[in-house]
Amino acid sequence: MKENGLTMGCRRVLLTAMCILLAAGFTAAACACLPLRAEAAEQEKVTRDFYAMDTVLTLTAYGDGAAEGITKAGEEIERLDALLSTARKESEVASINAASMETEGEMFALSEDSIALLTASLYLNEETGGAFDITIYPLMQLWGFPTKEYRVPSDDEIAGTLALVGSDRISFDPEEGEMSFPMKGMEIDFGGIAKGYAAERILQIFRDAGITSGLVSLGGNVQTLGTKPDGSPWKIAIQNPYGEENYLGVLQAADKAVVTSGGYERYFEENGKRYHHILDPATGCPADSGLLSVTIINDDGMMADGLSTALFVMGEEKAVEFWRNHADEFQMVLYTSDDRLLASPGLRDCFTSDNTIEWIA
Ligand code: ADP
Ligand code: MG
Repeated sequence: MKENGLTMGCRRVLLTAMCILLAAGFTAAACACLPLRAEAAEQEKVTRDFYAMDTVLTLTAYGDGAAEGITKAGEEIERLDALLSTARKESEVASINAASMETEGEMFALSEDSIALLTASLYLNEETGGAFDITIYPLMQLWGFPTKEYRVPSDDEIAGTLALVGSDRISFDPEEGEMSFPMKGMEIDFGGIAKGYAAERILQIFRDAGITSGLVSLGGNVQTLGTKPDGSPWKIAIQNPYGEENYLGVLQAADKAVVTSGGYERYFEENGKRYHHILDPATGCPADSGLLSVTIINDDGMMADGLSTALFVMGEEKAVEFWRNHADEFQMVLYTSDDRLLASPGLRDCFTSDNTIEWIA
């Protein structure tokens, strides 16, 4: 078994190539959402690429505070990566997970960032009927995703590891900023929501630096601050799960998060079957819901990130039902494995595609 070349290897190269293109006149781009060519701007434009949170990220800002804002944002990404990464042994999350191997019921003191992330994660877990669950980390390890030593576990191994999964069992005291697991070996992973949180933090740093026009592109997370300097909306392309050459459609957005989750982002193949990194906490296996990608558009990057992961797990029917119950909170674009493109009606004026769009009623 080996890594899929395009996704894990060439993909990085492609992204780097894209980032070089950006310097030659494109606005920031990475992964699932590719902002398109910008109009010539009179304000100073600063664009910089970073590698953190296991992805290439591109920050763009216009105006006087742009350079300073981007430098500070870069430091913030590094700070969050060092705090939240499951792979960095000294991180807060990794320390909690390591301690959970040794003890049961221990109270862990959380940073402000982890309190915010845990609050949102537990809320999403409840709202999505368990589809979003940060306690999937033991399963992520079982499938070999963190180490990239991929393997398909046996049914018994999956059943055994599922016993460690269940966010509703976490004790959390937001006032004291403490949490504990009821069972030894439970572990958490903010990977489904951390990039959205980081994007929110970066936007705040941009605002504090006086920036009114900017773009954050963190893997499949794109977040826009204001409009383009000429007052027109940003144009954000949603990646086609089948390849980077074309896209599913284009969204026009200002002051919005546009977050895409898809099974094509990170996966391995064994015996011709593809296993991707978004797990269904109900089965312990990669979600097999009939969706190839989910894009969420709303005002809050962290929620958009969590929802894109959760609705990908849920599948079309449940995702549509969920949207109907939260229609005033977010808009979405779904792409199904039978090649249908669905969009919620709030996007009628800002989403275009060469494909036929089925408008959700
Ligand atoms: P990406 O990070 O590739 O943009 P997502 O936002 O969908 O994609 O997050 C996927 C990550 O979320 C996984 O790598 C893992 O860390 C975590 N994850 C996987 N399945 C779930 C789930 N059901 N609920 C919450 N987090 C998940
Ligand atoms: Mg997500």
